[in-house]
Amino acid sequence: MTPNGLCRCLLFSILLGLNLPAAAALTANKVLAADRLSQPRISLSPYFTVLEDPEQILTPADMQKPEIAARFKTESAKTEALSFGYTRSAYWLRLSLANTGNSPVERILEIGYARLSSIQLHQPLANGLFQSSSAGMDMPFAARPYPNRFFVFPITLPAHSEHTYYLRVASKNTLLVPARLWEPRAFHQHERNDYLSQAWYFGMATAMILFNLLLFVSLRDVIYLLYVNFVTIMALAFAEQSGLATEFLWTDSPRWTGISTGVCYSATFAALLTFTRHMLNTWKVAPRLDRLIKISIGIYLLIPFGLAVAYPYLITWLTLFHLVTSALVLYTGLFCIVKRQRSAIFFVAAFTVLCLGGTVGALRALAWVPTNFFTTNLLQLGSAIEMLLLALALADRFNGMRLDKAKAQKEALEAQQRLVENLRSSEHILETRVAERTAELQILNRKLEALSTTDGLTGIANRRRFDEVLANEWNRAERLAQPLALAMIDIDWFKKYNDRYGHQAGDECLQAVAAVLTANICRTGDLVARYGGEEFAFIAPATGGVIALDMARKVCAALQATALPHPMSVYGQVTVSIGIAAMVPNQQLSPDILLKSADEALYCAKKQGRNRAVLAAQS
Ligand code: GH3
Ligand code: MG
Ligand code: MG
Repeated sequence: MTPNGLCRCLLFSILLGLNLPAAAALTANKVLAADRLSQPRISLSPYFTVLEDPEQILTPADMQKPEIAARFKTESAKTEALSFGYTRSAYWLRLSLANTGNSPVERILEIGYARLSSIQLHQPLANGLFQSSSAGMDMPFAARPYPNRFFVFPITLPAHSEHTYYLRVASKNTLLVPARLWEPRAFHQHERNDYLSQAWYFGMATAMILFNLLLFVSLRDVIYLLYVNFVTIMALAFAEQSGLATEFLWTDSPRWTGISTGVCYSATFAALLTFTRHMLNTWKVAPRLDRLIKISIGIYLLIPFGLAVAYPYLITWLTLFHLVTSALVLYTGLFCIVKRQRSAIFFVAAFTVLCLGGTVGALRALAWVPTNFFTTNLLQLGSAIEMLLLALALADRFNGMRLDKAKAQKEALEAQQRLVENLRSSEHILETRVAERTAELQILNRKLEALSTTDGLTGIANRRRFDEVLANEWNRAERLAQPLALAMIDIDWFKKYNDRYGHQAGDECLQAVAAVLTANICRTGDLVARYGGEEFAFIAPATGGVIALDMARKVCAALQATALPHPMSVYGQVTVSIGIAAMVPNQQLSPDILLKSADEALYCAKKQGRNRAVLAAQS
């Protein structure tokens, strides 16, 4: 057995178990007594004898020639359909029907495959002529003997009669003849159910198309448009395959009908591959497979042109190409699952059923598997399930994107919060540093200010500070109408002291005098300052001349008590002369007058012999 034969045998064995048996097979040559049938429906395959007409030259008249009649053979197929695959031969099927009853019998002959190019039913009449009726895709729908998506011939068997029927079939598509004989009422019931199930499928497809179109309009994601495109073209292909397109869409276009099958399937696969690329992001996840997919799309787009010129040559190869493409789509889905792409799981689930149906459909077209309910309807059923699962895949994809977006937003928010916290802590650190620096600067400023108002040698206030305090106290005293006292203090014969002990000792003497002054002029508000050289001064606010004089005498006495030796002085020790002035300031007076008075009093003290305090006359 060849591998091809082995493959057919294997598939046949598998699918035979699922085959819906028709009537029990009867002997092929036996006349079918149609009026005695207990079943409302019977498969005619076992009752046919078959003649191949490779050149398509035989006529109905030839059938009655004995040499031709002898060439009819019994087909061994026990399935629901006679299957001849893709062939350029015509086939003649002979069937004998008998009515042994007393009344005529109405029966319906149905060929349940919509894509046969041409079918003729011939019944020899007594006069040697034939009563013929025709159907097929090559002729307008309206010319059919019975309006149905399949090919249906009503037959009337007169009482006590036996008739031989010749069915001539030829097709550009696969030649499949699922012939059945129906009891009319059963057929009409079956017809209603059949159209209802088709309406259910196309209704569902329409709902999915409209719903996803609305999703595209609102979400602006091109994947929904590609889904709509794929489902629309697929539904159209099924309408074509099921014969509904010929019945309702292109009822009278034999030229188009001749290539419609191949064109619809090519368009479906092109749409499927385009959707696959976008759904699985194959250009990112699997670039090599993506290249293959793109090449396949290109081929599918070119195929309709090829079909227009060489349909019979291409159609067999096209069916094989469908098988290869189905495998490619499935492999791509599985590859993306391995690459941990979440949406690929739903995708593969959806297409497993569809690919299985597609594969079985293609094998049926090649006559590698028998025709039965299962092999006939698996593709359409798979397509319905696939539509739903793909919609689920799109919903999951949307959900995934929503979760990714939420995650990204959360991360962005966290990053923003971290940034704000960092900024806040930096700001806090900066503020602390600025506060520290400001405090340091304030201390330094205070130190600088203190330094600028302090005498470097003695540590008491300097002349600058003295002037400030004098101005302030003058104003305050004026406001409060209080007396202000000022004393100028000058060390006696200090030049001689320097000369005698040196400048260093002179400085120490200045420090000693400052210390005595600080120790004795210590009332709150009083100020002791070095006025310049060996001259000192003190300011005593709210103090009259007499009290200031007492303060000055106290200083003289205290200095005398320290008994700093000064051999060059007539007193033998360091002494000071003090001139005091005191007055209540007013607008006509000024601090200079106070200074001048004190200076004049000092001059008097010097003049009167030094080592004394003198109060200015007007104080
Ligand atoms: P009188 O009793 O009239 O005031 O005589 P005097 O010598 O004290 O007066 P004079 O104005 O002639 O001399 C002041 C001296 O004070 C001159 C200067 O050498 C000295 N002197 C001024 N400033 C300083 C100083 O900062 N350090 C030292 N060691 N001596 C100073
Ligand atoms: Mg002096
Ligand atoms: Mg002096």
